Amino acid sequence: MKTITQVLALARPSLLSLKPYSSARDEFDQSASGIGNLVFLDANENPYASPHNRYPDPHQRELKNVLSSIKGRPAEEIFIGNGSDEAIDLILRAFCAPGYHSVVIPSPTYGMYSVSAAINEVLVKPVFLSEKFDLDPATVLDTVDDRTRIVFLCTPNNPTGNNLSRDALMRVVKGFNGLVVVDEAYIDFTSFPSLLSELEDYPNLIVLQTLSKAWGLAGLRLGMAFAHRDIISLLDKIKPPYNISSYAQQTAIEVLKKSSEKEKRVSEILAERARVAQALSGMKSVQKVYPSEANFILVRVSDAPRAYNYLVRAGIVVRDRSQVRLCEQCLRITIGTAIENDLLLKALAAYE
Ligand SMILES: *Cc1c(COP(=O)(O)O)cnc(C)c1O
Repeated sequence: MKTITQVLALARPSLLSLKPYSSARDEFDQSASGIGNLVFLDANENPYASPHNRYPDPHQRELKNVLSSIKGRPAEEIFIGNGSDEAIDLILRAFCAPGYHSVVIPSPTYGMYSVSAAINEVLVKPVFLSEKFDLDPATVLDTVDDRTRIVFLCTPNNPTGNNLSRDALMRVVKGFNGLVVVDEAYIDFTSFPSLLSELEDYPNLIVLQTLSKAWGLAGLRLGMAFAHRDIISLLDKIKPPYNISSYAQQTAIEVLKKSSEKEKRVSEILAERARVAQALSGMKSVQKVYPSEANFILVRVSDAPRAYNYLVRAGIVVRDRSQVRLCEQCLRITIGTAIENDLLLKALAAYE
């Protein structure tokens, strides 16, 4: 068993001892004053043009409380980033020294982990998923070395759509002494249980989720990291103070309160996913429809670039993943509305 002290010892020492930027709103604690209507002359804001003239809450307290009740984790175990992308970048910066440490990333998976690693000059050690896109934990554990700080895993995986097995995931979490980041961006589209419930026992586990997919808020840019509170404190310490705008915080709080609408949209997408998969598998032009636990389907066709260009001319944009190893001749198709999916199916039915 690893302890949080052992895990935190892997963070960059200069960041552990860093004194963070203290904003005007940090230095004044509103609850310390008994007065309701305060005059704020501390942050060089413009007194006009309410409501967005004020700096947002740098600690996103209200939003964290709402997320806490939805996710069943204490607010202190939640980091909110400007998209999951910001969380990925900050985790890399918190634990990896440029030009020295490495990370392990399976392939094929979401491209941001390796791009973010490259930006931070962190070496990427690749491992490959099997033909069926399964993860072999022994290969991951053989690939990590003394300088490996993070393993990135994504389940359901993008662009393949399958879940990595819980057993494989937990073997990596248990067997690796560094951090294991499990990206659950598509968790609402699968019946696979979240790893959030494992956070209690594994201080080296970080779970990523996002409001960009099931919650329909990709434009707001809100991603979450869940982990031991000491890891969250470290990420909060090194983030830009006002990384989440007041508009994003307020809008997210309103949308999160309407979770039944999210549920309804998710079940529509799931029904459409089944319908689209069924229709695609009956088509001459489609060689394989991979099973999906996400809001997209990976399909293999005979000539993916040709099919892609054909669809673009028909006004439909999908993702050509044929350059990705193990995804040769594959298109990744997002599940849209029933009308959009019909347009896709109609166009593909007319494609030879
Ligand atoms: C879409 C997606 C995200 C979401 O990223 P945001 O920056 O939160 O929009 C994260 N991880 C994976 C694997 C994704 O496919």
